[in-house]
Amino acid sequence: MVRDRFAPSPTGNVHIGSLRTALYNYLYAKKMGGEFLLRLEDTDQTRLELGAVDNLLDALNMTGVIPDEGLTKKDDVICQVGEYGPYIQSQRLDIYRKYIDMLLENGQAYYCFCTKERLENVRNSQKENGETPRYDGKCRTLTEPEIASNIAAGIPYTIRLKLPEDHVIRVDDMVRGVIEMNTNDLDDQVLLKADGFPTYHMAVVVDDHLMKITHVIRGEEWLPSTPKHVYLYECLGWQKPQFVHLPNILNDDRKKLSKRQGDVSVGDFLAKGYLPEALVNFLALLGWSPETEQEIFSIDELIQVFDLNRINKSGAVFDRNKLNWMNAHY
Ligand code: GLU
Repeated sequence: MVRDRFAPSPTGNVHIGSLRTALYNYLYAKKMGGEFLLRLEDTDQTRLELGAVDNLLDALNMTGVIPDEGLTKKDDVICQVGEYGPYIQSQRLDIYRKYIDMLLENGQAYYCFCTKERLENVRNSQKENGETPRYDGKCRTLTEPEIASNIAAGIPYTIRLKLPEDHVIRVDDMVRGVIEMNTNDLDDQVLLKADGFPTYHMAVVVDDHLMKITHVIRGEEWLPSTPKHVYLYECLGWQKPQFVHLPNILNDDRKKLSKRQGDVSVGDFLAKGYLPEALVNFLALLGWSPETEQEIFSIDELIQVFDLNRINKSGAVFDRNKLNWMNAHY
C-alpha cells in the first residue's frame, strides 16, 4: 500500500511551498487508496518556534489537506493517531539511539570528540588551501580504551557515519532520474549531535523506514541530502522508498520564492480572503501539469487526475496574477 508523508519542521508559519509538498503527498496517497501521514521533525531544538504546530495544523485543516495518520488537530486539540508513532521526533530519541548504536557496533559509525573550535580551525585552513571543507577524520581511528576514557571523563561527543572510500551511491529519483555520488565527495555526516538529538539525516531514514513510507515526496532542496540517506538505508539493510523531488517555487526573477515579492505564508493568503479551494487548485498546478487544458479543479477532481509522472522538472514561477484569476473564477 502507498504510504507517503509530510514531515515539516515547526520553525515558523507554514510557507506556501510546504503546503504544496503536503498537497502532492495527499493527492498521491488518496489517488492510490493509500495513507498520508504527518510527522513533526523537531530535532533542531534551536530553530523551534512557539505556535508553529498550531499554525501548521490549522492551515492543513482549512485547506482540506488532512492526514490519515500522525499528527492532527481535532476539536482544537493537537493529537497523534496511528500505530507507528510517536510522530513527533523529539519523542523518539531512544529509537534513533538504538539504530545509531547498531551502526557503531557494525563499525559503520564512530564517536567524535572534536570541539567546535577544532572543527572550525580545520575548516578554515582547508578553505585557505582551496580545498572543500570537510571533517578530517581525526576520531576515525580512536581505540576502544580512548573512547571509553573520553566518555568516562564526560567529554561531549557526536557520532558520525563512517563512509567507505570510493563507493558510488546511486539515487533514483522519479523527477530527476539517476544521480550518482562518490563517497569521496561526501563528509562523514554527524548522526547524533552533542545534545543527544539525532540529525535530520538519521531521523528521517529511521522514521521513513519504521513508518513504512513507500514514497518520499519533498522539495528539491533535499536532493543533495538524499545520497546520505540512501547510504544509511544500505548500512541498515533496509529497502529504500521511491524518491520524488519537487521543483522549487520561484519569484518572478526566477530566484527561490521569498517574502520580497509579497506574502509567502499560507495564513497570510487565507487572512486576505483567498479561498482555500483556489489556493489548493493554484498550488496543484504549480509544478505539475494535468493532461488536459482544464484549469479549475475541485480537490476530488485533482485526486483523480494527479500523476507523479507529470511533475515538472524545472522551477515553477509563483504567478500572483494567476492566483488572483483562479480566486475570482472559483
Ligand atoms: N523536515 C524537513 C523540512 O522541514 C523535511 C524534509 C523531508 O521531507 O525529508 O522541510
